[in-house]
Amino acid sequence: MEPAYHKLWLSGELKEKTRAAWDLLSSCSLCPRNCRVNRLIGEKGFCGQGLQAKVARALPHFGEEPPLSGSRGAGTVFFSGCALRCLYCQNFQISQEGIGEELAPEILAGVFLDLQIQGCHNLDLVSPTPHLPFILSALKIAVSQGFKLPIIYNTHGYLSETALDLLDGVVDIFLPDMKYGEKNRAALLSQAEDYPLYNQDAIKEMYRQVGPLKIDEQGVGSRGLLVRHLILPENKSDSLEIIRSLASLSKEIPISLMAQYRPCYKSHEVSEINRPLHPREYSEVVALAEQLGFEEIYVQNLESAEIYYPDFSRDDPFAGK
Ligand code: SF4
Repeated sequence: MEPAYHKLWLSGELKEKTRAAWDLLSSCSLCPRNCRVNRLIGEKGFCGQGLQAKVARALPHFGEEPPLSGSRGAGTVFFSGCALRCLYCQNFQISQEGIGEELAPEILAGVFLDLQIQGCHNLDLVSPTPHLPFILSALKIAVSQGFKLPIIYNTHGYLSETALDLLDGVVDIFLPDMKYGEKNRAALLSQAEDYPLYNQDAIKEMYRQVGPLKIDEQGVGSRGLLVRHLILPENKSDSLEIIRSLASLSKEIPISLMAQYRPCYKSHEVSEINRPLHPREYSEVVALAEQLGFEEIYVQNLESAEIYYPDFSRDDPFAGK
């Protein structure tokens, strides 16, 4: 199946979208933070990102949901920086502490092509939004050199309409989080009171663009939306609300209920999240999703908290897990 962006590349629209994304950098409004800093002259906003893509790691990754990892791995590129400040971020070394290397578009295009050569099923862009102009520039170069993997947009789900317009026709698979439905939780745990507002609109728009995730004969996802929800300690009512709101949009949307929470980074600052998840906290959320009749629910063991905890100071952050 041809990737979504191929049509845009042929029509010249990919070039236009790339230009529009770069234009946003002069008064950055790539995400709902709307910092309005001029990144073209070196100013930095909330995410701390500059004028080049900052990449922490690129590798075949087998820890995504089965239709995304497949048998040969998702071609995962972990970008640095983030528009959220989640106290419990397991990727804090790259999202908050700046691990990563700045890459020019030609080099980033080479990274994309290399993941294709390694046989990955897709290009899995993790936390890409602050880097969107550079990703589009790199994509143009890569496509001209034979790149054709489907693109996964793997995001915390805090996205503006502006970014979603740019992504329309570029992305094959949206893989967003739904972290919070309740603004006080979003403010306390991620410094983003308006997260639920933007997140709910973003999920609707992603669904409009790509529909529910479709899986091919080999069991690999080709196009569509798959939503993730990480279950947090002491957060049952918010989790249940999120699941209900997704069900009201469509029960055809596969939902991945993640059990991999473990206290880390600054989670000690809020006592209710400063402990691992209890099995019952997880199973109650799964039970509701089943009752509501979701067609596909991905679940995890509670041991996932150790298996999927990365260390980005290593060459392979997931080695030995
Ligand atoms: S991408 Fe970064 S600089 Fe731009 S609006 Fe978002 S947080 Fe601010």
